[in-house]
Amino acid sequence: MKKLTVLSGGMGGARFLQGLLHGITTGALPGVDADAEVTVVANTADDWWIHGLKVCPDLDTVMYTLGDGIDPERGWGRRDETWSAKEELAAYGVEPTWFGLGDRDIATHLVRTQLIDAGYPLSKVTQALCKRWLTPAWGDRVRLLPMTDDRVETHVAIADPESPSGRRVVHFQEYWVRLRAEVAAETVVVVGIDDSSPAPGVLDALTDADLVLLPPSNPVVSVGTILGVPGLRDALRTTAAPVVGLSPIVGGSHVRGMAEQLLASIGVEVSAGGVGRHYGARSAGGVLDGWLVDERDADQVADLEQSGIRSAAVPLMMTDHDATAAMAAAAIGLVGR
Ligand code: GDP
Ligand code: CA
Repeated sequence: MKKLTVLSGGMGGARFLQGLLHGITTGALPGVDADAEVTVVANTADDWWIHGLKVCPDLDTVMYTLGDGIDPERGWGRRDETWSAKEELAAYGVEPTWFGLGDRDIATHLVRTQLIDAGYPLSKVTQALCKRWLTPAWGDRVRLLPMTDDRVETHVAIADPESPSGRRVVHFQEYWVRLRAEVAAETVVVVGIDDSSPAPGVLDALTDADLVLLPPSNPVVSVGTILGVPGLRDALRTTAAPVVGLSPIVGGSHVRGMAEQLLASIGVEVSAGGVGRHYGARSAGGVLDGWLVDERDADQVADLEQSGIRSAAVPLMMTDHDATAAMAAAAIGLVGR
C-alpha cells in the first residue's frame, strides 16, 4: 500500500497518526510501503473566530503533533507556551476569557488570519502553515487537508430555563471549553454543512487511496462532521480502498474527551458496537468494511459481523507509539484478511 487516507479530529486523530507514521517508518505495518504517503482530512467544524483571529483547533492539533510542536500534557496548543496576551486581554475585560490562546499559538492564528483576509482558501493557508511543521519531518509524505474551505460550525443546543424557548444554542467551543460538556447536549447542529463542498484534493484522497482509516476520533463532532460534507460519504462508499475504523469508545465510555455526551444527542448507543453500527457496513449503505473494538468489548464482535462489518477485539489504548502502531497494524490485518 502506497496511499493511506485518514479522517481525523484533533487529539484522538493526531495521536493515532503519530502511531501510524511510527508504524510505517519502522516497518511494523504489514503490506504498507516504507515510503507510503499519508493524507489527513481533518475536521474544521470546531473552527471559530475569536479576538479577530481564525482558529482551527483540529488542524492545529494534527499539525503541531506531527511537527513535534504540541504540548504533550495538554494535548493541544504549543509546548513551552506563555499566556501574556491572554492575560492582557483579560485585563482589558475583553470577552471571552475562557478560551485558551497562548502567545506562540497566536502567531499561527495571525499568519492564518492574514492569509484568509488576503483571499486564500483555508486549504492553501493550511499548506503554507504545514511548510513549517510537516515538511521538515515528513517532506511531501504527509499532507494535511481541511475537510472543506467553506465556513462550517458545530453548534450545540442545551437546556436553559432562563430563555423563553427553554433552550440556548452555543458554539461548540463554548459547549466544550466553557461548559466542559457538563450539561446535556439536546441537539448538535452543524451550521453550513449542507452548503459546503469538499476542499480540493479531499475526494481524490478517498478515491485514489489504497486504504482509508477512521481513527478513534469523536464520532459526532469529528468524523461525523467530516462525513457530513456533501460528496464525502459517497466517495467513501464507492472507493476501491477498504475503509476501516477504530472505536473511540472503550468499555462503554470515551477514553478522553466527550463522545459520551454527544452520542446520546444523536440517539447512538455509547458502545463500541453502537458506534460501528452507526457508521454502518459499506455493503449496507454505510461507510465501513472493518471496525476494531477494544478487547474489553470482545462481546460486541459477533453483532458487528452480523451487520456486515468485519470486526476484531484488540487493545485500543494509545499509550505509546508502539501500542498505537499495533492498533494500525490490526486495522490493516482486519481488512486484508
Ligand atoms: P478532539 O477533536 O481533540 O476531540 O479529538 P478527536 O475527535 O480526534 O478524538 C477524541 C476521541 O478520541 C475521544 O472521544 C476518545 O473517545 C478518543 N480517544 C482518546 N484517546 C484514546 C485511546 O487511547 N484509545 C481510544 N480507543 N480512543 C481514544
Ligand atoms: Ca475537535
